[in-house]
Amino acid sequence: CGIVGYLGKKDALPLVVDGLKYLEYRGYDSAGVAVHTGREIEVVRAVGKINDLEQKLKNPPRGKCAIGHTRWATHGRPSLENCHPLATTDGRIVLVHNGIIENFNVLKNQLLAEGVAFQTETDTEVLVALIGKYYTGNLAEAVLQALREVEGTFAIAVLAQDKPDEIVAAKRAAPLCLGLGKDENFIGSDAISFIKHTNKVIYLKDGEIAVLTAKSVEIRNLRGKKVNPKTQTLSLDP
Ligand code: GLU
Repeated sequence: CGIVGYLGKKDALPLVVDGLKYLEYRGYDSAGVAVHTGREIEVVRAVGKINDLEQKLKNPPRGKCAIGHTRWATHGRPSLENCHPLATTDGRIVLVHNGIIENFNVLKNQLLAEGVAFQTETDTEVLVALIGKYYTGNLAEAVLQALREVEGTFAIAVLAQDKPDEIVAAKRAAPLCLGLGKDENFIGSDAISFIKHTNKVIYLKDGEIAVLTAKSVEIRNLRGKKVNPKTQTLSLDP
């Protein structure tokens, strides 16, 4: 399973699909992408291989911000409706997740009682629903609030329909790193997914949340306090 993301000046989709190919070694049963076109978020998903996803991208959505996912199903069978990216029912928030939300049943019952509708069998959907519930314009704040309620493991990347230039990422007990480029930034479960483009890498620590734009990266801990990340320069030499 794996996560990738791109924000910059280039056409984001090919970069994200290429990044996903480098994560195939991690194993997966389905794949999907979400592209922010500037006006809306377009999601394309497929059960099977990246190749199956590419078959569905013959008329590709264009935008400068995108996230991608390979899924190794843990809750909910490998089916089209359970593929990530997953969205809130109103489509305002779109998310990819690797890991397991252990308390998803409790959270799902609470949300159902509040009238939230669910479309999948996944544990992940409670997380996107919670973020949607808390979102009032500050995406990082809504993600922080939601993450404080979840137990389990996660690497996530989140888009909001009204934030075409921003990706929020976070992790706990699942790998996630950021690649820093010139006027472009990357996300990957493994730096191999973006190393062609930049070797400047920040490895997120457990409990950290990052807000990325094309030109900036800001990292905070789950209490919301800013942290100073350590940037490493990876060497491509053997
Ligand atoms: N638990 C999530 C699901 O089954 C994410 C699985 C993964 O790590 O790919 O949808």
